[in-house]
Amino acid sequence: MTIMENPITALNGVGENRAGLFAKLGIRTIEDMLYFFPRYMEDRSNITDIISVKDGDNVCVLASVVLKPQVMRVRNNLVIYKVLVDDGTATMTLTWFNNKFIPNTFKVGEKYKFFGKVNRKGSKIEMATPTYEKEETNVHTGRVTPIYPLTKDLHQKTARGILKQCVDAVVGNINEYLPNDIRAKYGLCELNYAFSSIHFPETAQDYTRARYRFVFEELLILQLGMLMMKKIDKTKKAPVIVSEEYIKEFKTKMPFEMTGAQRRVLAEISADFSDEKPMSRLLQGDVGSGKTVVAFAAMYAAVKNGFQAALMAPTEVLAKQHYESALKYFEKEEIGFLTGSVTGKTKQSVIEKIKTGEVKIVIGTHAVIEDNIEFKNLALAITDEQHRFGVKQRAKLAGKGEGIHTLIMSATPIPRTLALILYGDLDISVLDELPPGRQKIDTFYLNEDFRARINAFMRKKIEEGRQIYVICPLIEESEKSDMKAATELSEHLAKTILPEYKVELLHGRMKPKEKNEIMARFASGETNVLVSTTVIEVGVNVPNATVMIVENAERFGLSQLHQIRGRVGRGSEKSYCILFSNGGGKNTEKRLEVMTKTNDGFEISRRDLELRGPGDFLGTRQHGLPEMKIANLFTDMEICKKAGECARLILKKDEKLKSAEYAFLRQKLRKMFGGLADGNVVG
Ligand code: ADP
Ligand code: MG
Repeated sequence: MTIMENPITALNGVGENRAGLFAKLGIRTIEDMLYFFPRYMEDRSNITDIISVKDGDNVCVLASVVLKPQVMRVRNNLVIYKVLVDDGTATMTLTWFNNKFIPNTFKVGEKYKFFGKVNRKGSKIEMATPTYEKEETNVHTGRVTPIYPLTKDLHQKTARGILKQCVDAVVGNINEYLPNDIRAKYGLCELNYAFSSIHFPETAQDYTRARYRFVFEELLILQLGMLMMKKIDKTKKAPVIVSEEYIKEFKTKMPFEMTGAQRRVLAEISADFSDEKPMSRLLQGDVGSGKTVVAFAAMYAAVKNGFQAALMAPTEVLAKQHYESALKYFEKEEIGFLTGSVTGKTKQSVIEKIKTGEVKIVIGTHAVIEDNIEFKNLALAITDEQHRFGVKQRAKLAGKGEGIHTLIMSATPIPRTLALILYGDLDISVLDELPPGRQKIDTFYLNEDFRARINAFMRKKIEEGRQIYVICPLIEESEKSDMKAATELSEHLAKTILPEYKVELLHGRMKPKEKNEIMARFASGETNVLVSTTVIEVGVNVPNATVMIVENAERFGLSQLHQIRGRVGRGSEKSYCILFSNGGGKNTEKRLEVMTKTNDGFEISRRDLELRGPGDFLGTRQHGLPEMKIANLFTDMEICKKAGECARLILKKDEKLKSAEYAFLRQKLRKMFGGLADGNVVG
């Protein structure tokens, strides 16, 4: 066992209790502790004269204790401790509450450093609950100080003290694991220095250098993993698809004119098709911008050239909907539908027809990429909302994707760096224009007081012939009670509020067949109100639905709300979105207000980013990527590019990372990708 593998209880001051708190943060060993990076650095390196401090400033002072700490018992449960200090320029009073250690901490006449927020009224200068330490030490004050992302009951000072002990114990004895040539080429600092400087840098610049190294390292490992899973073979050629005439022909079958943006994107796809280099294109377009017909037009051209084309959606309901729409443009016999609900003989028959080529268009969920599916001559693979697919499914698709053209459709504006990591090298097309006649969806942010009015509004809309969605969020921890709430709400609506109308409940746990039937009844207009606990299943197109009601709207991210709202406003009728929320978090109001002010998806995701921060917005889980400890996929774009280049160079030299020089990288890969790093992927 190396020192790195020791449990943190080997450190002074870490007993069972604290070990438990650290375990909550995923820290069990010394190594975990070293990789527990600060959230940010606070510069406490300047010592300020007390005389010159300003009200509200956060400052560090060096001063002597003038008097014995004063103890004032204000109430039974409130004791105030006051300490008067002097740095030769002025005096200042320090205050602590209920901290019984204070009287024994400070000795009259001795010097200490104090860091905290100043409260100044003229010559009366105070500082409440400062961080303090003796003059001669430099852990918490008088330096660029690390601030850690801690859990409740674990204080910065405690954690920092333990981290310092940990760093001092191992730095100097750590073996560098990045090969020297890589470090030299990309300017990455040495590992011992890096650990010491990421936690306790001498200067802000030392911290920056250390952070650069660890960010690079993390992004390198991420990209190595993604690349190894993709196993892209760039030498494969894709079939040339002659498309312009066929796309023209397709247009004559459409019930509407293409928008300018749709025409432009199709021209880009056409150009890609005319070349043997496999197309790899991301199509970004806001909800409702009409990505589906673009996909069908491309598929139409592929089929007319005698090839097969596949369209894969993340859910059964979406796949089914694409299938229904496809019937407008293709013969029923040439379309094969494959999802979890297609089983037995039907499934066998579809699989057989895909193999013989009788089926030209395959539409489905990830059932389409199962190992037993063999295409006769697949030339084009399209995925809808692909970021919802996990890393593994994506890897599998890429496996089938050698030598074919791929198009990825997404309503989420993904930053280019992230897109590159997720999908590898690709071109991006944007549908930046909505079909004509779309009206703004009026959006309201309301609390429970408006319930009765909204119930009346629902009735009015149903009487006018419209349909309504009600979305209830489910979050994992409280899934049971949430489910109960959704069930109760739908029963309440059905029995009490709208007894003469049809209300149905759709939830994620239902069998695909049942979901399809419920969606079909809603799409046909038979059901008036659809209460749903899953957002994703509602990625559908029912133009007659014009009211979207979202319960506990604060539980959704803005981009998610935007997607949900995009389910209405799909026809010519005026549409509405009601966001119910009874508060929750200080940002809730601000965030939901954004929804009432704009309908622009790109603007909304920008605001979301601002209000929630990139970590949340790009919740790596949302994209099926491993959690990042230090790298920020938004702000570290430049490093990301370099790390990507480095990953490619490494794999060119040693595509399986078998050599001893990369042993450590391999180990890190296994750690980051967990169960995914099985034999054939990351060996
Ligand atoms: P998304 O980009 O969100 O997948 P869809 O492809 O589902 O959007 O299209 C949304 C709606 O807009 C559908 O009802 C579709 O038929 C309609 N639509 C698409 N393109 C046009 C167009 N050029 N003119 C009018 N309606 C269109
Ligand atoms: Mg769509």
